[in-house]
Amino acid sequence: MRIDVLTVLPGLFDCFLSEGIIGKAVQSGKVEVNVVNIRDFALDKHKVVDDVPYGGGPGMVLKPEPIFRAYEELTKEGEKPYVILTEPWGETFNQDMALEFSKKERLLIICGRYEGVDERVKALVDREVSIGDYVLTGGELPAMVIMDAVIRLLPGVLGNEESLKADSFMDRGLLGYPNYTRPAEFRGMKVPEVLLSGHHKKIELWRKEQSLRKTLKRKPEVIERLKKEGMLTKEELR
Ligand code: SAM
Repeated sequence: MRIDVLTVLPGLFDCFLSEGIIGKAVQSGKVEVNVVNIRDFALDKHKVVDDVPYGGGPGMVLKPEPIFRAYEELTKEGEKPYVILTEPWGETFNQDMALEFSKKERLLIICGRYEGVDERVKALVDREVSIGDYVLTGGELPAMVIMDAVIRLLPGVLGNEESLKADSFMDRGLLGYPNYTRPAEFRGMKVPEVLLSGHHKKIELWRKEQSLRKTLKRKPEVIERLKKEGMLTKEELR
C-alpha cells in the first residue's frame, strides 16, 4: 500500500513513521508513506498556502491551488488514490472504515489547518473523516490515527496476526477480553484461576464470556443489534 499525506507540518510525522510497529512497516516496505509539504506547491515565492476567508470572519483558510497542484503531481502516474479529507464534521472513523481503507492500493490523506480547507478542495475527496466530536488544531493527528489503524491491518505488519482477530471490534463488533501477565498475584490481586489452568477450551470460553459481558456493559447497542440480526450463537446467548 502507498499512502500520500498532504500537510503544512510534515515534521509532525517523523517520530510516528520511524518508531514501533509503524516504523518497522515503513522500513520493511510493507507500506510506503510519502509525506508532502503543501507549501512546496504554493504559487508564489513566499510559499503562501492560506488566505483570509471570503465574507470575513476569524482565521485563515487553506487555499485550493497548492492542494490541487500537489494532488495533480502525485497522481500523474499509477493508480488513482482514495482521497480522505480530515474534518471534525466528517464520518466518525471506526474499525470498519480502517478495514475498508486497508484494502485500497493507495490512500491520499489531506490534513486541514487553520479554519480548514477551501470548500472546493472537496472536488478531490472521496471521504471526509473525523476522529471524534472535538476540534483539533490540524488534521495531522487524525491522519496518524487513521494510518496507524490501517497500517496495523496490512498483511505481515503485526508479528502475530492472530492478535488481530482477538482485537476489539474485529469479531462482529464485540469488545476484547481482559489480559493478564506475570506475576500470578500482584499486591493481593490474583489472575483468574482459569488462565493458569492450561485448559485451552476453558480459557477460550472464559475469554468469549468476558468479551460478551464487556460489550453488554459498555456497548449494549452492539449486543442488541447482534441479537436482532441472529448473529449470536445459542451458547453466546446463554
Ligand atoms: N473551522 C473548523 C470547524 O468549524 O469545525 C475547525 C477547523 S480545525 C481548527 C483545523 C483542521 O483540523 C480541520 O480542517 C481538520 O482538518 C482538522 N481537524 C480538527 N479536528 C478534527 C477532528 N475531530 N477530526 C478530523 N480532523 C480534525
